[in-house]
Amino acid sequence: MPAVAGLAPEILAKYEPVIGLEVHVQLLTASKAFCGCANRFGAPPNTNVCPVCLGLPGALPVLNAKAVEYATMASLALNCQVRERSIFARKNYFYPDLPKGYQISQFDKPIAEHGWIEVPAANGGPKRIGITRLHMEEDAGKSLHDGFADSATRTYLDLNRCGTPLAEIVSEPDIRTPDEAFEYLTRMKEILLYSEVSDCNMEEGSLRCDANVSVRLKGAPKFGTKVEVKNVNSFKFVRAALEYEIERQIELTESGGTVKQETRLWDANEGRTYTMRSKEQAHDYRYFPEPDLQPLIVTPEFLEEMRKKLPELPEARRARMIAEYELSAKDAHTLTASREFADRFEEAAKKARNPRRVANLLLSEVTGRLNALGLELDQSPVTMAGIVQAADLLDEDKISSKQLKQLFDIAFENGEDFSVVYEREKPQQITDASAIEKLIDEVIAANPKQVEQYRAGKTSIAGFFVGQVMRMTKGQANPALLNELVAKKLEG
Ligand code: ADP
Ligand code: ZN
Ligand code: MG
Repeated sequence: MPAVAGLAPEILAKYEPVIGLEVHVQLLTASKAFCGCANRFGAPPNTNVCPVCLGLPGALPVLNAKAVEYATMASLALNCQVRERSIFARKNYFYPDLPKGYQISQFDKPIAEHGWIEVPAANGGPKRIGITRLHMEEDAGKSLHDGFADSATRTYLDLNRCGTPLAEIVSEPDIRTPDEAFEYLTRMKEILLYSEVSDCNMEEGSLRCDANVSVRLKGAPKFGTKVEVKNVNSFKFVRAALEYEIERQIELTESGGTVKQETRLWDANEGRTYTMRSKEQAHDYRYFPEPDLQPLIVTPEFLEEMRKKLPELPEARRARMIAEYELSAKDAHTLTASREFADRFEEAAKKARNPRRVANLLLSEVTGRLNALGLELDQSPVTMAGIVQAADLLDEDKISSKQLKQLFDIAFENGEDFSVVYEREKPQQITDASAIEKLIDEVIAANPKQVEQYRAGKTSIAGFFVGQVMRMTKGQANPALLNELVAKKLEG
């Protein structure tokens, strides 16, 4: 990224960045948080609205039970303690996309607190990033500034998003580098996707991130003044915005200035942040308990039920798969990139004679070819069933690994599954014992010295005879039968 002024490394090294992230995720419920309107992206503007989500006078909110389930599952998956009793609050502010004039949120008693996500730290070891809180709230509508004939003079409003259930997840200021921030977000998204509580689609806005960042001299007892960078729409941009902002703040401090507490926006085209507004304080929002909603009670029984609904989470799954299939950490990451893919792999692997071989083929023969073609795993012409078949054929010595590679080449070239290619190109195998015996006899007759060595006890030399016959048959002799017959002949 463009540095502000290309600060010298020894100047950068004097400072320590401090980062905390606030993530909003839309929960994947069928209806909105407090009314029956559909919670769906992409509907024609203002078609999924009702008196409740428009905030018409007298309309009363009813809490969506599914939203509570998903928020609770997310809380547990993120290692949070779930409060038995949490309180909804009104966060008051004016904005055209917020017709009610307030957002229903949670304030001092959020549904969950004290969680963490583990990330790989700069020194390689694992590091826990604390999660201060996870609270439930509703989304606002959308202002449409572009795309209309009169966009130069008008802004339109689409209120479909009003009342969409959100979980806001606030981290502790535990993050120290833009890379750690990137890892934290990646791990969080993975956990939420595995838990199936959100689709985490950043393009559609179902996952949004605000990044808070300050710098201080290393060893300083207090944090510096933070700046909040809002609505950065990809994890890579979050990293870039943090890199930019850290340098900007250091440069400002070095030149005798002071960092102002403010909200800034990221400009991806220019690779820089710029001032949006000075930051409001919590008391500006006049939070007060939402009078139209009861306290939210989460019983231990409900909590247990939600815990049971959670799948094996990515980190635990990787650890298990590393042991079970003897994988490297990197390979385990590849195989668990999505829960669906990991499920498909493991379901297939279970059907194979040797599950580890399925993992190996997938990683060595399939991913490389897919990368070369620029395809994703789920676009592979060779299906999981095809990989299992290939693994079993190898395991039973019915094909050599060289033949397997050739069959995979053809499959990827033609876009065919392995079974199709195998049926057509099935490598010929000589399984006629008398034909093989004849060839062994020839080799024996031509190599008396090796026969002698064998009979003197050097039984490993049998491999020499097997190799000779394989060469004569261009690798087509059935290996199991050949081995058996060579031993028999040499003994005889
Ligand atoms: P605010 O009252 O401005 O909303 P919070 O204390 O609620 O601030 O924190 C919001 C986010 O900013 C959290 O993720 C927190 O970890 C982070 N944060 C707080 N103080 C700092 C700081 N000095 N530098 C960087 N991040 C910070
Ligand atoms: Zn509604
Ligand atoms: Mg705050």
